[in-house]
Amino acid sequence: MRETTPDAYDPQTVEIKWQQRWEERGTNRTDLAGASRPLYNLMMFPYPSAEGLHVGNVFAFTGADIYGRYRRLTGDTVFQPLGFDAFGIHSENFALKMGIHPGELIPRNIERFRKQLRRVGLMVDWRYEVSTTDPAYYKWTQWIFLQLLKAGLAYRKRGAVNWCPACKTVLANEQVINGFCERHPDVKVEQRVLEQWFFRITRYTDRLLTNLETLDWSVSTRLLQTNWIGRSEGAELAFETPGGQRITVFTTRPDTLHGATYMVLAPEHPLVEALTTAEQRSEVRAYQRTVAAKDIVSRKVGEKEKTGVFTGAYARNPATGHSIPVWIADYVLMEYGTGAIMAVPGHDERDFEFATTFRLPIVRVIAGAGQDASTPLTAAEPDIAAGRLVNSGSFDGQPWAEAKRAITASLAEQGLGKAVVNYRLHDWCVSRQRYWGPPIPIIYCDDCGAVPVPEQDLPVLLPVVEDTRPDDSGVSPLARHEAWYRVPCPACGKTARRETDVSDTFLDSAWYFLRYPSADRGDVPFDAALTRRWLPVGSYIGGNEHAVLHLLYSRFVTMALKDMGHVAFAEPFAKFRAHGTIVKDGTKMSKSRGNVVVPDRYIEQWGADTFRMYLMFLGPYQEGGDFRDAGISGIRRFLDKVWGLVADTASAQAAPAPDLERLLHRTIRKVGDDTAALGYNTAIAAMMEYVNALREGAPVRALVEPLVVLLAPYAPHFAEECWERLGHATSVMDAVWPASDAAKAAAGDVEVVVQVNGKVRARLQFPRGTGEGEAVEAAKADPAVQRFIEGKEIRKVIFVPDRLVSLVV
Ligand SMILES: [Zn+2]
Ligand SMILES: [Zn+2]
Repeated sequence: MRETTPDAYDPQTVEIKWQQRWEERGTNRTDLAGASRPLYNLMMFPYPSAEGLHVGNVFAFTGADIYGRYRRLTGDTVFQPLGFDAFGIHSENFALKMGIHPGELIPRNIERFRKQLRRVGLMVDWRYEVSTTDPAYYKWTQWIFLQLLKAGLAYRKRGAVNWCPACKTVLANEQVINGFCERHPDVKVEQRVLEQWFFRITRYTDRLLTNLETLDWSVSTRLLQTNWIGRSEGAELAFETPGGQRITVFTTRPDTLHGATYMVLAPEHPLVEALTTAEQRSEVRAYQRTVAAKDIVSRKVGEKEKTGVFTGAYARNPATGHSIPVWIADYVLMEYGTGAIMAVPGHDERDFEFATTFRLPIVRVIAGAGQDASTPLTAAEPDIAAGRLVNSGSFDGQPWAEAKRAITASLAEQGLGKAVVNYRLHDWCVSRQRYWGPPIPIIYCDDCGAVPVPEQDLPVLLPVVEDTRPDDSGVSPLARHEAWYRVPCPACGKTARRETDVSDTFLDSAWYFLRYPSADRGDVPFDAALTRRWLPVGSYIGGNEHAVLHLLYSRFVTMALKDMGHVAFAEPFAKFRAHGTIVKDGTKMSKSRGNVVVPDRYIEQWGADTFRMYLMFLGPYQEGGDFRDAGISGIRRFLDKVWGLVADTASAQAAPAPDLERLLHRTIRKVGDDTAALGYNTAIAAMMEYVNALREGAPVRALVEPLVVLLAPYAPHFAEECWERLGHATSVMDAVWPASDAAKAAAGDVEVVVQVNGKVRARLQFPRGTGEGEAVEAAKADPAVQRFIEGKEIRKVIFVPDRLVSLVV
């Protein structure tokens, strides 16, 4: 601890003092049973890495904490729990790297995290901490698995799955980023055929999509989720072969049917065997073998060189009546649509490349402005705006969107087609061939099949296995522990075998928000009355990197629990805001660049309050900002100034000067509005401006005391100390947010007319005597004015003080 004069602001002393006080007084505890205006303010729980708390964590949590504190000061009872997402590959890989058993390392990491999190000064009620690795928690994760099984939403299937050779486990589609592992950006994900457990999330596709429109979520998050679910409207069309087989295809563009000059089947398509002619058989088989050895991902991404083989068979284009050749090629995947496509090389890029490679006919069936039926195609033209059909028989001349419906209807009449909706979302693969997770609660019996572990036998404890390394066998390390997996069958008593895979970490986090209020309950996963009172979550803040993983899975699990009658709501998060990210000196933080900001060092040097405020001042919270060491001292100087004002005015009871009183009420309104909207940087700027004005004027207690409350969400320890120095015996968090008096805020204002090119476009209120610079900036920022100046150069400005801003563009 450094030496200081008794009156100087010493953050270390102040912060340690108040953290102890909060603990002793229970300041951060929430009365869950008695709340009249409950607000569940949730932040995404961290996974406790060994590196400790990341600056990104501090940024995210501070923003959520400010919001929660603000809501408490404005009258809500706020519940702000925190816990640890401590199972999973991230944690396990680090333990492997360190050569320490995860069962030993992870609790140590958690302990370190807990200390760091407390040091940041978050208003967390630590009595409700959860860790996903705690058997008292994962007992209920396993229980949820069993409920989904009971409801027919969990099933086992043998199929092609994503396999990361570095993780040595399967991955969900959501964990594969452009063909690479989300944890190993340079490792290509492969295809393996394994027997795995899946959750039938696709049963909820429609609800997951339509409900999104009703949620108060960041637009960016909703868009990411909408695109991931990937709804497309189209048609299923049948192409008949002379042999009487029907090849069904899904297309989003039935309007291009007349341009389908060949067909392609996935090499694994069940009809390939029957269709292939004797002459083509050996070539087709050879190609199928090559493709089977390929990974699914490069097939999904699509390779430059198109390959394929003709089956020797033909099918009839139901629109033109022409016989068109049937090929197989690896760019068509069995898992999408029907595993077969009608190829329209004139209007699809991949089909165009394929047709060019194999010299197949290319026909234009859509023409845009200035084009006609004979305009040559030098590349595929998929999206012709306002295009009309050509070379399409009786449909010629129709706009393509209209023709889409007309052609589908015409085929439906012939019994050869129907309108259908297709989705990109697939079922969620939840099996993991790893050690560090909750064992899937299933027992396999030769006589009874897959038998669920009886609920009274939960949790199925994760056994201690010495060698936790995953291997390439596709079998979990738990399969090395025979004494653990050999158990009697719960149904018949014969010797049976436990499932040795563990479940995906994303199942752990898909329900943690339900657990917090009931974290102290051993008998139920979540208490019915508390859940009714506190959920759905009133405000959730987190990163957009979880838009399609955690946020989608949580919605699915909640909907399923709702349908089973376990909860009363289908959507877990009424409001969600995605926070931005922090970069350092313009680049992403990474260990290899050596530019990682370690929060501990800054908190030690500057104190948590200064660090918190600095992070919030970097830029708009929902966008993030650039961390530069140089800026942090400005925040510290600001707090020193407030400290001085508090010392000087504690007993200054005189009435405030009118101009300062007006500024106070404006500042209260601005800080309140901005804080409610997570506009923390502009709220801080308003407080700085106010403090500078106070220092130039005649500050009195009535002007300084409200400022301390405004500051409390941002610099909570500091505000507590100031509040005490102003003579209060209770926590500043139990104070009331000051009211902004509209009349006082407007006192002395004048109306200034804003003109653009001589026309009045706005009337703005300014304090009398506002200078040209400020008035012109405010005028240009006004939305009504912006419409007329956007993208234009301002050629002239006329300013008449207290009367007029005139812009010429
Ligand atoms: Zn991986
Ligand atoms: Zn049995």
